[in-house]
Parts: sequence; C-alpha cells; structure tokens
Amino acid sequence: MTQTTASSTLKAHPVTVPAHPVWPEMSPEEKSATKNRIKALLKERNAVLVAHYYTDGDLQELAEETGGCVSDSLEMARFGTQQSADTLVVCGVRFMGETAKILNPEKHILMPDLNATCSLDEGCPADEFTAFCDQHPDHTVVVYANTSAKVKARADWVVTSGIALPIIQHLAECGEKIIWAPDKHLGRYVQKQTGAEMLFWNGSCVVHEEFKSVALERIKRLHPEAAVLVHPESPEEVIDQADVVGSTTTLINAVKEMDNKTFIVATDGGIFHKMKQLAPGKKLIEAPTAGEGATCESCAHCPWMGMNALQNLEQVLLTGNNEIQIDPAIREQAVKSIQKMLDFSSNMKK
Ligand code: SF4
Repeated sequence: MTQTTASSTLKAHPVTVPAHPVWPEMSPEEKSATKNRIKALLKERNAVLVAHYYTDGDLQELAEETGGCVSDSLEMARFGTQQSADTLVVCGVRFMGETAKILNPEKHILMPDLNATCSLDEGCPADEFTAFCDQHPDHTVVVYANTSAKVKARADWVVTSGIALPIIQHLAECGEKIIWAPDKHLGRYVQKQTGAEMLFWNGSCVVHEEFKSVALERIKRLHPEAAVLVHPESPEEVIDQADVVGSTTTLINAVKEMDNKTFIVATDGGIFHKMKQLAPGKKLIEAPTAGEGATCESCAHCPWMGMNALQNLEQVLLTGNNEIQIDPAIREQAVKSIQKMLDFSSNMKK
C-alpha cells in the first residue's frame, strides 16, 4: 500500500508556550479548608468535577472524593454524558471542555482557566486545516481529540490515543485514504502499525516532543530492570525503545499489572499521581528531556495542564465564570465525528 506523508512539506504552525505557572504554596490546613469549600460549592451548584491524569494530584483526589472522575480524554468525554449534574467542571485543557460542551449542550461547562490550551490544538488553526483538507477531497479526515471544536466540525472522525489504532485499522480495511491531524508522531506510529495510507498535519505536543532518545538509552542502561512506557505523542526513536506504547490509561495499567518493580515513563509527570496510587511499591522514573547526554530525571509537565489549581477552581465555582460556549452550527457538525468515536468504542466493548 502506498504511504505518503505531507508533514515534511507542511510548515509547522508557530505555537507560543507559556511559562509553567507557579501557584502560591498552601499549608496543609489551608489546603484542607479550600478543598472543603470546593466540596460545598460543588454541591450548591449541582456540579461534578472531571479531571485529566495530567492535572495536579490535589485536583485528582478532589474529583474522586466528590463522585467525579479522573481519566484520559476518551473516558472524560464518556463520563460527562452519563451525569445528571447541571454543571461539569473540567480540569484539563480547553479542548476537553469543548468536547464536554459538544456532547452536553444543555449543561454548563466550566473550566478553571480558559487559556489552558494545548500545543496540538494551537498548532492546527481551523482555517488552514480546512484549506488542507479541501486540497484532498478524496481523503477521510481523522483528527485527534486535541483540536478545537471547529477542526472537529471539519472532520469525519475524532479519535483519542486510546482508540486511534482500531479506528484507523478499520478505515484502512475499508480502503480509505486518511488525512491525520494534528500530531505527526502519533500519526506515524499509527501508520506503522496499520499500514494505512495517510497524509499528516505537521503538529506535535511540546511536552512529548522533548523526550530524548539518546538520553533514554543512557537511563535504560542505568536501570536495566526497568520497563519503558511511552505515550505515542513522543518521537519515533523514543517509541522504538518502549516496552509498552499507549494512552495514559494503557500506561497506568502497565505499571499496575507488569511484574517489573521499576518503570521509565515518557509522558507528562502528572500521571505519576495515579500510578503511585495504584502501584505504591513501584519505582517511577521520568524519561529524560534535558538533552542528548542527560541522565537526570526530567520535568515533563504540560504548562497548560498546570494552569488548573485549587485556587482558580474555587474561584470558578464561586463566580460561574469561564463557561465554555460553542456556536450551535459548529457543535452540530462536531458532535457527529465525536459520536462516531464513542459508538465505535461501545461496539468494541460489546
Ligand atoms: S501534554 Fe501535550 S498534548 Fe497534552 S495538553 Fe499538554 S501540550 Fe497538549
């Protein structure tokens, strides 16, 4: 089967990466009082917290303690649709809030900070992407969940990293040619696994792109007993060294289920909270990001995920500000491509 790539000819769209936010330190008493006030506000607003694995551990705990959920973006989307609450408070990045609104138009969707975006979303502006798709009208358009509502509205399918492989496999078996956006690394990984004919948008995740293969080899030599877990948004040379490649949920399950006592993990460090909770005796090492020869433990943390904190979560619950709004015409289109993914996933489970 012919395999073509467009990303070598498409220029990457520039993305401005913010500094990692620094939140004022809270004493244990302050933290506990803030959490209690948030719990009361959630009840008052009939609101449920939905948090991603990459957010701060306090937010993850609070979501679990209050009947919300902590999960990957696929489960976050699904969980939201099953709630009777009037309001979903999404701790994560903007596309997650938008997906929640697209699937639950009758609910209020609040986010601690609406500026919490994502380099993949920002690197795929809807007008440029639409023009790219229009140049290839014979292709099925598949976009990663990390995109704006407008980009989803232009797509035939939305996928998350947890379900990208079976959906692309299915489309390849139907003989479809695919436009894939925005993450070129995940796209290449999926293409390698499925043999699908794919054109790639030239986007990447600023966190995963930083993992360094030479430094990873060195860390592996220092910890030969460790299993290497890699999220497929990482560069190909890093993926090639993995024992397990997969979504955040897949990587968490690997730590829980594999016999290894040590793991080198190439994804956002926020995931360690859940890994430690589920496998407390295991040693977790962040894969290196600090240059070719690095042997240090790195700081792979998404600056946009870091914009979620107890402080702005409380504010948003007090004020009702930061509500996600989506143009109804865009929503009507975007919901089709997301719903296809959810239906495909339900059928797989059956
Ligand atoms: S870790 Fe990467 S893909 Fe995830 S939200 Fe941050 S920039 Fe986007």
